Amino acid sequence: MAGYRRQLYRDDAVVLRVQKLGESDRIITLLTRRHGRLRAVARGVRRTTSKFGARLEPFGHVDLQLAGDPKGNHGSSLHTISQAEGIDLYGKRFLGDYPRYTAASAIAETAERLTPIEREPSLRLFQLTLGALRSLATGDHATTLVLDAYLLRGMAFAGWAPALTACAVCGTPGRHRAFSVPAGGAVCPDCRPPGAAHPAPATVDLMSALTTGDWAYADATETGVRRECSGLVAAHLQWHLERALRSLPLVDRGAPASGAVPPPGGAGPGVVPPRTGGGPAAAGVNREITE
Ligand SMILES: [Zn+2]
Repeated sequence: MAGYRRQLYRDDAVVLRVQKLGESDRIITLLTRRHGRLRAVARGVRRTTSKFGARLEPFGHVDLQLAGDPKGNHGSSLHTISQAEGIDLYGKRFLGDYPRYTAASAIAETAERLTPIEREPSLRLFQLTLGALRSLATGDHATTLVLDAYLLRGMAFAGWAPALTACAVCGTPGRHRAFSVPAGGAVCPDCRPPGAAHPAPATVDLMSALTTGDWAYADATETGVRRECSGLVAAHLQWHLERALRSLPLVDRGAPASGAVPPPGGAGPGVVPPRTGGGPAAAGVNREITE
């Protein structure tokens, strides 16, 4: 036992990832509203008698009571989840829906990668992540549009959104025809490096619409434009991340568009397929205190 008093505190969070720990516990990676990203232990949740494990599945929005030092100054970096209530368990709606499940996986993985430091509050990223999962769940917009809007805005938070309305190199305003991932986005004829792509103007317009939230424009775009947009967004994201996302190559986007830049790296070991059965642990709805 650590030599300090563990504090109890509440927060709501999105479940990003769930890992096994020992025989009956899990480590839950959370993006919380007020305390940034953190990992917490959920004890006993893999026992069939646990009423609380089903609420801690990936992609759920949950209200939690946690034990640990909220500032992380003392003891283990792992906090303990002592209570969990489901606010909206979006993950259930993605079961058996491969495109939405893989898009949610890419969102959760990106959220984790955009928060390299634990317990650094990022309210905007929390709201962006929650909003994207909610939008996937409601199905108001095409799955790939929701994902690409999330990736573009997430990159904007990180400070490396692609340049779309001015040359990425010299800053000359305008809608430039060439697009170079290494250069940072759209580039003017003077700055265009060898090997730059020449996406359709509608593709760059779609990237702008997704960045600013112009859904009326985005929803009206054609499939080929969306595919080219997805290719450029993925390539731009992976260029800036140290390691490629495991889940992004698995997102079901249909056949690649000609001229789109393929994401580097290719598919990794793959994401775990969605669970198809609820099991006894999914039945309970009551709050449970595990310690
Ligand atoms: Zn230029």
